[in-house]
Amino acid sequence: MTHSVVVGSGPNGLAAAIRLAHAGHEVTVLEAADRPGGGTRTSERTLPGLLHDDCSAFHPTGVASPYFRALDLERHGLKWLWPDIDLAHPLDDGRAGVAARDAALTAASLGVDADRWRRLFAATVRGYDDLIDEVLRPVAHLPRHPVALGRFGMRALLPATRLARMFEDEPARALFMGVAAHKFGRLDQPLSSSVGMMLTAATLTVGWPVARGGSEAITRALLAELAEYGGRVLTGVRVRSLDQLTELTGSRPDVTVLDTSPAGAVAIAGQTLPARVRRALERYAYGPGAFKLDVAIEGDIPWTNENCRRAGTVHLGGSAARIARIEAQTEAGGMPDQPFVLLGQQYLADPSRSSPTANPIYAYAHVPNGYTGDATEAILGQVERFAPGFRARILAVAARNTGAMASYNANYIGGDISAGANTARQIIARPRVAANPYSLGVPGLYLCSSATPPGAGVHGMGGFHAAESALRQLRRAKSNR
Ligand SMILES: Cc1cc2nc3c(=O)[nH]c(=O)nc-3n(C[C@H](O)[C@H](O)[C@H](O)COP(=O)(O)OP(=O)(O)OC[C@H]3O[C@@H](n4cnc5c(N)ncnc54)[C@H](O)[C@@H]3O)c2cc1C
Repeated sequence: MTHSVVVGSGPNGLAAAIRLAHAGHEVTVLEAADRPGGGTRTSERTLPGLLHDDCSAFHPTGVASPYFRALDLERHGLKWLWPDIDLAHPLDDGRAGVAARDAALTAASLGVDADRWRRLFAATVRGYDDLIDEVLRPVAHLPRHPVALGRFGMRALLPATRLARMFEDEPARALFMGVAAHKFGRLDQPLSSSVGMMLTAATLTVGWPVARGGSEAITRALLAELAEYGGRVLTGVRVRSLDQLTELTGSRPDVTVLDTSPAGAVAIAGQTLPARVRRALERYAYGPGAFKLDVAIEGDIPWTNENCRRAGTVHLGGSAARIARIEAQTEAGGMPDQPFVLLGQQYLADPSRSSPTANPIYAYAHVPNGYTGDATEAILGQVERFAPGFRARILAVAARNTGAMASYNANYIGGDISAGANTARQIIARPRVAANPYSLGVPGLYLCSSATPPGAGVHGMGGFHAAESALRQLRRAKSNR
């Protein structure tokens, strides 16, 4: 039987493991942490009974992922739940742009720009299913849906700042820039609107759902699928070399897939990698970090803008111009006094995460890579700015700085939760310029983490494509024998 090992049990690692197990391989997943799931885990971080997503929270890519869909994870208990409003972006004057699948609600919040908003994303929305199929794979491929991809590409190539200027008023401008900021870092460079275009189109199509019971429900469903096909997961095992894989599993694996950062891959397989591959992985750039803050509150957040009270995600950063400034500052290594904050109120869609007396609030700020300071006050200040009286409702807080994030998951180098900077170069060629970005240049050895296409997000597509590469190579080797 063909023997495969996957190092790391994030959504990409588990997706790779499942694809290989489906192909009949004997699969072992080795995970450093004491619980599988990587960026897809949920814990009681503040008070007993309150469920906080440790990392990923909202799942536009999860619900749209072609591989997750094919796996029918709902069969293993996964249930998506949607808030009334996917996203709200409050401004200092009390207004807020919102993105909801209820078009009338979005239009009312965007006023003079309502029609422009709809038209800007119309083509992307129309071809969304085809487009997802195109963008959740390596950029360099023969497109199956060239029209959808071409229309999207024309907009995605633009700097986000340029796209935001197409709107007349601040609610639409700031709303778009907040979504674009999910890329982390400068928003005035080519391709910086690509993440914003896709995630905004998602608000008009599949939405930004949460998983019932916490994002860990996605991990549980993937584990159940893997177990059905005989795959096993060993936790508490930090892999440091390829030799260790043979010691741990009893034989040399035919296929090894690393759900690690490029630096992690060099640490494990550096001696084996061709010099050019090793050099490319060592040159790979990491982006700004995240400072995570979980808060338990009594009641709800007293947002000034009513729509924010119904929104799953709330972006806190103010005007479009300010977001461009603070994201550039963060990328350059400076910590803004008022950083960009992404706040989650998952309990609105999924009340099972609350206790009878408290609700869990999820937040993280964009901070410089490796930032060692405490951003707790800066985050609380950003919430208070748009929801006066918020601090008085706080029952408990739990913070993790960039160092704690990196200890929690070795892939978050310097707190970079995307496992690599989203520069134009690394959006196009991730982790290096290569015909097969998953191959590490050694037969049987692959990388599948979000440092490979299509990049960050819980979708499992990096894992799926890496496993497909491995299966193709095995078939070729067999037919050449
Ligand atoms: C705060 C935060 C918020 C986020 N929000 C969202 C969101 O709302 N929606 C979304 O789609 N995405 C979100 N993400 C991103 C998402 O979590 C990641 O893109 C996704 O988890 C990447 O999956 P992966 O399988 O590539 O790697 P990971 O999920 O990072 O998993 C990698 C695994 O490999 C293990 N590992 C690494 N090195 C070794 C080793 N040497 N030996 C053994 N095991 C090892 C790690 O312990 C980890 O379990 C967020 C991430 C963070 C941190």
